[in-house]
Amino acid sequence: MRKGTSRRRFMGEGSIAAAALAGLAANAHAAEGGSAHLCVTCGTQFPESATPPAHCPICEDERQYVGPDGQKWTTLDQLRTNHKNVITKEEDDLYSINTMPKFGIGQRAFLIRTPRGNLLWDCVGLIDDQTISRIKELGGIAEIAISHPHYYTAMIEWSRAFGGAPIHIHEAERPWVMRPDPCVRFWKGESQTLLGSLPLVRTGGHFEGYQVLLWPAGAEGRGALMAGDQPQIGLDPKQVSFMWSYPNYIPLNAPTIRHIMACLDPLEYDRIYGAFVVRGKGIVFTGGKAVVRRSAERYLRAIQG
Ligand SMILES: [Zn+2]
Ligand SMILES: [Zn+2]
Repeated sequence: MRKGTSRRRFMGEGSIAAAALAGLAANAHAAEGGSAHLCVTCGTQFPESATPPAHCPICEDERQYVGPDGQKWTTLDQLRTNHKNVITKEEDDLYSINTMPKFGIGQRAFLIRTPRGNLLWDCVGLIDDQTISRIKELGGIAEIAISHPHYYTAMIEWSRAFGGAPIHIHEAERPWVMRPDPCVRFWKGESQTLLGSLPLVRTGGHFEGYQVLLWPAGAEGRGALMAGDQPQIGLDPKQVSFMWSYPNYIPLNAPTIRHIMACLDPLEYDRIYGAFVVRGKGIVFTGGKAVVRRSAERYLRAIQG
C-alpha cells in the first residue's frame, strides 16, 4: 500500500532520527544527572542528556513543524509546576486523560479498563504523582499502545510508573522512537490482540505503522474504535478525514485510503474516540462505521476529480 516515494521519504527521516540519537549517545557521559528533555511543540521526550538535543526529528519531519519561535525544550519537572492532567470518565470503563493547559500537540490519552487489566491508549507528555495515584485507584496500567509517533511523548515515564508496562508499537515506527527502552515491544504484521481481548490493527496511512485499537466492550457493547489521528473526527462529528499531515494539509493518496478502509471495514464498532477535544468533543457517538465509509467515499471523489 505504500508508494515508493513515501517509503524513501520515510527512510530519509529515519536516518535523521538515527543521527540525532547518535549525537545524544556521544554525550552519554555528560548525561549523568541530566534531564530527559521534552520538545515543546510535539511533547516528545528524549533520553537523558546534560544539554537539550540539537533537533527534534519528529517536528522537522514534513508532517509536523518546528514552532514559530524555533526549537524549544522543557523538562517534566518544569511541566509539573504549571500543568496538570484532567482525568474524566467518558463511559463505563473508559477514562480520558487531558493535559491542561494544552501541552505539545494537545492530544488526549485514554485508560480502558478490562477484567484482565487496563490499557493506556495513546499518551501525553505530563505524568505526575496526582495522575499516578488516580490511575492506580482505577486499577493501574498493564499495557500501553500508541497510535503513532506524534503521541509517543513521555511513554517511557508512563511505563516505568506502572511497573514497566509493555508499550506496543509497530515495527515500522522503530526509527521514530526517540527514547529507546526495553519496555517498547515492536510487533510485526497487520494485527494482534492485546490483554483483555483488545485487537490492535495496523492501517498505515498517516504513518507507515499507524495503528488503531478496537474496544469491543465500548459503546455499551456495540464496540468503539480508538482512532487517535486517523480517521480524524471533524468539527462535524458526522464526518471524518484522513491526512498524511494535518498541520500542513498534505492528503493521502487513493490506494492508501482504500487500504485503510479494507483494514477498518471488518471491525465491529459504533462509536469513535478521537485524539482531540479542542474541536468539538472528538467523539462520533453512534453510527461511526457509516460515518467512516461515507467520509472515505467522499474523500476519494475529492482527490480523484
Ligand atoms: Zn518535536
Ligand atoms: Zn499525528
